[in-house]
Order: sequence, then structure tokens, then C-alpha cells
Amino acid sequence: MATSLNLGFPRIGKRRELKRATEDYWAGRLDAEGLEAAGAALRAEHWQLQMAAGINSIPVGDFSFYDHVLDAAVLVGAVPERFAAIGEATEFPAYFAMARGIGGEHGIAPLEMTKWFDTNYHYIVPEFGPKTAFRLQAGRLLRQISEAQALSVPARPVLLGPVSLLRLGKSVEPGFDPILLLDRLLPVYAELIGQLQAAGAQCVQIDEPVFATGLGEAERGALRRSFAALRAAAPKLRLLLASYFASYGEDLPLALSLPIDVLHLDLVRAPQDLDAALAQQVAPGLRLSLGVVDGHNVWRTDLRRSLAHLRRAADVLGEERVLVAPSCSLLHVPIDLGAETALDPELRGWLAFARQKLGEVETLRRALGGGEEEALAESDRVQEGRASSPRAVHPEVRARLAALTAKDSRRQSPGDVRRGAQARRLPLPALPTTTIGSFPQTQELRSLRAQMRRGEIGAGAYEEGIRAEIERVIRLQEEIGLDLLVHGEAERNDMVEYFGEQLGGFASTGNGWVQSYGTRCVKPPIIYGDVYRPAPMTVRWSAYAQSLTEQPVKGMLTGPVTILQWSFARDDQPREQTAKQIALAIRDEVVDLEAAGIRAIQIDEPAFREGMPLRREEREDYLRWATEAFRLATSGVRDETQIHSHMCYSEFNDIVEAIAALDADVISIEAARSGMELLEAFSRFSYPNEIGPGVYDIHSPRVPGAEEMAQALRAAAGVLGSGKLWVNPDCGLKTRRFEEVLPSLRNMVEAAKAVREAL
Ligand code: GLN
Ligand code: ZN
Repeated sequence: MATSLNLGFPRIGKRRELKRATEDYWAGRLDAEGLEAAGAALRAEHWQLQMAAGINSIPVGDFSFYDHVLDAAVLVGAVPERFAAIGEATEFPAYFAMARGIGGEHGIAPLEMTKWFDTNYHYIVPEFGPKTAFRLQAGRLLRQISEAQALSVPARPVLLGPVSLLRLGKSVEPGFDPILLLDRLLPVYAELIGQLQAAGAQCVQIDEPVFATGLGEAERGALRRSFAALRAAAPKLRLLLASYFASYGEDLPLALSLPIDVLHLDLVRAPQDLDAALAQQVAPGLRLSLGVVDGHNVWRTDLRRSLAHLRRAADVLGEERVLVAPSCSLLHVPIDLGAETALDPELRGWLAFARQKLGEVETLRRALGGGEEEALAESDRVQEGRASSPRAVHPEVRARLAALTAKDSRRQSPGDVRRGAQARRLPLPALPTTTIGSFPQTQELRSLRAQMRRGEIGAGAYEEGIRAEIERVIRLQEEIGLDLLVHGEAERNDMVEYFGEQLGGFASTGNGWVQSYGTRCVKPPIIYGDVYRPAPMTVRWSAYAQSLTEQPVKGMLTGPVTILQWSFARDDQPREQTAKQIALAIRDEVVDLEAAGIRAIQIDEPAFREGMPLRREEREDYLRWATEAFRLATSGVRDETQIHSHMCYSEFNDIVEAIAALDADVISIEAARSGMELLEAFSRFSYPNEIGPGVYDIHSPRVPGAEEMAQALRAAAGVLGSGKLWVNPDCGLKTRRFEEVLPSLRNMVEAAKAVREAL
């Protein structure tokens, strides 16, 4: 018989219980014991749920109060010196300080945070330097193992492997490669493995997702040494090596040759890995864990197709050497579709969240042994229904897409010609000032929206409230003296959800929460069908804002790549196709904004860089279609309409060429943190269009001084020249308060004036 296993379970709780408890603890409403108890209750509930689904091997150690990479760093004692005075990092005060920092005059900066591979989850970046020392701190993990044992959970500890831990961290000393710490780190892992064996574990899962990004010689050697050390430390323990999100590629032979007992393959992302593995003769002692249920997306599995993979493996290896699993941890999907009672039943029938996915894993395991005919037949019906449902298929959209020609993703004239036309229609000074779009989302705005959702106020009263806020923001900008104004985005809850709620082919969930970072959760829309725009989405707000002032007001949209990236995308057509459908819907909006008299339109693409595939060989193709989607969205307008874009959250040095290929007239880009390095990349490449490197970091409540911003501007002008330079903050202002924003913007305008005068 085959075995079923799960690689990881969401920890936030069905009703975001962990978020509530943690935030209560931070606010002093709950003590440490209370928070520990809330964590234990969630773990127990989630283990029970996995046992009820029939899963044979259940992860322990996947739970975290903030982030699993932070936990891994704490587990081996990789705690930066500056937190030492707060106490042991295994206790909440120092632990949360590492994640969030400590404010105030004698504050301590937190560790950085960054994207977990190509998911929308963010992990805490461990810090390493030549002086980093390691020390095993396994108490928390061992307690969880006994907790699980007490509940008779067939528990399997999960660890982030040593090579991934070092690779995901950052060096705090220039030129130092954390991988050099491996020799110091391995004894700690060996000790840990020994303790897990002593605690009664029979199998340990070692996650080494570094395989997904492709390895260099240093990592290959490090992985060989690591697994040799782990094997030697606990000869009787079964070792499961898991990587996910991409193919093992050319490193599959390496993975197969390591002294492990089970190798996990993500067959959703890399179905080719199975045949590659079977062709290479899997060693007799090695079993394969086959990720045949998508842990990264919300669709019901095509059981027939997944079963075919399992059969192919079982024919070669024998059933007992096949493990059935989700493709990756279920961290990235909501917990239970059962909570989505308001969702249309047909669409609901196409979906599976974490709980349902575990059911599918079990069904597949049983089906491999024969039987489950009914479940397979039902799966066939679901797949057929989805493929032909009038809800998903929009012939007009498809026809429109099929009829596109190269001309449709090209502006009428080249950038320098457009520049002249825009200068005539949009009189702006040198070094024009603007903002990225949103103004602070006040408590009043939030409660206005909540009242509307609860039906306590009508659409008319809501509209009035939003209009009043737009007028306020316009008057403030006029008074501050900004050149290109914005309407402030008061009407938006979220830059993707807002469009998802209005576009055809999208659905919203009531409780489809997934963890973004720490206690922050998002509810990504689900793209289930061909995308179209039933009606204008933003025109009335932008037109109203423009009607209030002589100054130009910038229209504000989210771009097709970002909408795709921050949604659950359909899995039955290439992402390229979906991106282009969204692009056409956005294009319609852009054209309508132009017709309504809006002279500058910004299409935000903060997720452009993060959509890039993990494996190098797939990147060129991504950049091709992502660029085309953006251009499709923006090329419907006349020369004199100025197209802006905005990007943030990433390093852009390596995609400057692609950014230029977007052919936006103006791009504003996060730069306050990465600084000159970024600008040099733009200058080296002689970026052709106009650019606004953020002159201040909006992620901090600090009000920057005018002189400091003037210096940043002069520095930018030194690298890029002043002729095509814009002056703007790093990102939107919605998370800040008016008390911080107004003086900051006043100083920014003053800085621009000072530098302008010296030109
Ligand atoms: N226009 C958006 C805003 O200002 C951009 C947000 C973003 O880049 N994440 O809020
Ligand atoms: Zn931004």
C-alpha cells in the first residue's frame, strides 16, 4: 500500500485565531501563557483535522507564531547580537523583536523580510556574519513533538535544511558568504537530529527548497556534506528531502544520490521530474513522495491525471515505495472551503482548500490500490464541467485576444515624440512633484466602508463620503503645491481586491485568508474564467477629482501582471493568456479615463519582478509576456496621454531592460532603501524615459527633512541627469497617518523647489 503525507499546514486558523491572539499579546491584552495556549489549541485542531482526513504522516514543527524561517534561525541560535539584551530568542519578547523591531529612541531594527520563493508569503531574513555562532535551542520543537504524541498524531518533524537556511539568510558583512558557516552549523543539526530520534521520531522532513532556484557548485557540495552528516547522526531515522515550487532540473541526480529515504517531487510545477527520476533508476532503498495535489492554488485536483502519475511510479517502484502528497506546504491556500457558504455552488464545486486537498490526497492513495471509482468519475465530471461552463468561457474575450496584432501593444509614436505632445498638454515644471496614488486610509474611511458592507448606509451616502474625502485630498495637495495630483484611492480596500470585485471572471471569498507575513493575512481573489470589464471601474472617481481642480489629476489603476500575481489564477490555461485578458480589461479602463479628460494615467506593477520564475531558463519567456501584457493595457491611448507606472518591493537592477521595454512615459520606483545602486543600473543602461526614484521611505513614520530629500534628488540628478527626473515618495501613503504625510510632502515640495532653482 502507498502512504499519504502532508508537508505543512496553514497556522493562522480558520477564523484567523492566531492573528487575534498574537495581536492581543502585542497590545497587552493577553499574556504569554495565553498566547502559548492559543498556539497549542490551533496545533491540536489542525492535527485532528489532518488525522480525520486519514493522512498517514503529519508534520510537526510547521506551526509558527510568526514565520518558519525565523523559527529555524532561532532553533539553531542564529540570533543577532542586538537582540541579546532582550532575553532568549525562544521567548516571545526577543522573538517578536527580531520579527518586528522595537520602536522609540533606543529602538532596535528588526530583521528584514522578503518573499518566500514565488509565493505571496514573506519570510524573515536571518542575518549571518563571520562571527555567527550556533547553539541548539530545541525545547519548543521537542515540546510540540510530545504534544503531538500525546494526541496520537503520526507525527513527522519538519526542519528547514541547513543549506536553505544559510542561503535564505543575508550576510551582514560585505563579501561574506553565509555558506561558509556550514561546518559550524552542521554539528548543531546533527545534535538536533539525534534528539529527534531520541524523542521517538521515525522520519524527519528536511526542506531544501534551494533546489528550486538552481544550485551552484558551492550549494551542491554543501548539500552532500549536510546529508552525510545528518545520516551519520541518526542512522535509524528516515530522512525525507523536500523541495518544491520548481523542477530539480539538472540537480535531480544529486538529489537522488543523497543518503535519504524519501525524495519529494513537486509534480504540479514539474511533472517532468517523475519520468526523469524513474529513468535514472531510483536506488532500491529510496521512496518517492509525489506532490500531485496543488498546494499553491485553490483548484480541485484532476484526480485521473494525478492518479496516472502515481501509477507510472508504482509500476516501476511498487506501490509501497510511493507516497502521495500535496505539491508543497498547504500554507499558501485557505483552510476550509466549507466556510464559503456564500460562494456560487458551481464555482465552489471547482475548488479545494487545505482540508479538501488532504481529502484528495487520501482518495488518491486509496485509488492507487484500486477502487475509488466514484470519486474518480466525479472528478471527471468536475473537470468537464469547468472546461465547458458558460461561466468560465467568454467567446468575445477569446476572439478579441485572438485578433490582437503587434500594433496593439505599441504606442502610436516613440517616447521622445510623445514627450513633446505631453509637455504641451500637461504643463509641468522641471522636476515635477507627485505621489504614488493613495493617501492615508483613515479610521473614518474604514468605518464608512464597513457601514456600507453591513447595509447600514446606502450607496448614496457612501458615495458622498468618498467624494468628500477626494475633495479634501485634492485641496491638501493644491495647498502643499504638488504638481501632478492624485485622487487618493479612498474608495479602495486593496489595490487588487478592488479590481477583482469589479471584473468578470473573478470571485471573492468570505474567509479565504492566507498568511502574507506575521499576523497579516490577505484574501486573494480567485480568477476562474475569461476576464472582462462589465463597466468602468474608476472613471467616476478620477473624473470627479479632476473636476475639482485646474491642476492635472493622475488616473490610478493596478496593472495586469500584479492583478494576476496577487490572485489565485486559473490553472487551465497559461498565465500568459490570463494576463492578457486582464490587460484588455485594464486597457478599456485606460481608454475611458482618457476620454473622461484624464491626462496622466498610472498603472501600478509592484509585482512585476516577483512574478519572475525561479528557474533562470524560464525567465525570458515570462518577461516577454509580462511586458506585452503591460503594453497591451497601456497602448490604447493617444501620444499626449502620459502613462506612468510604479514598482516597489523588489530589487530591479537585473530587469532594467525589461522595465524600459514597458515603454511607460514615467516610472516611479522604490529607491530610498536600495539607493544609488539602483540608479546606477538605470544610468548604465541609459534608461530612455522619465523616472521618479522615491526620495523618501514611506514604510517608516519618520518625517524626512527637506534638505535630506534635496540631497537625494541631487544625487539622483547626478546619476540620471535632471531633465527626466520626477520627485515622489517611494510608494503609496495609505498605511501612514496624515500627521506624518503632510509635513513630509511639504518638505518634499520644498526640496524639489530648492534643487529646481539651482538648475
Ligand atoms: N497606487 C498604489 C498606492 O499608492 C500603489 C501601491 C503599491 O505600490 N503597492 O497605494
Ligand atoms: Zn509601491
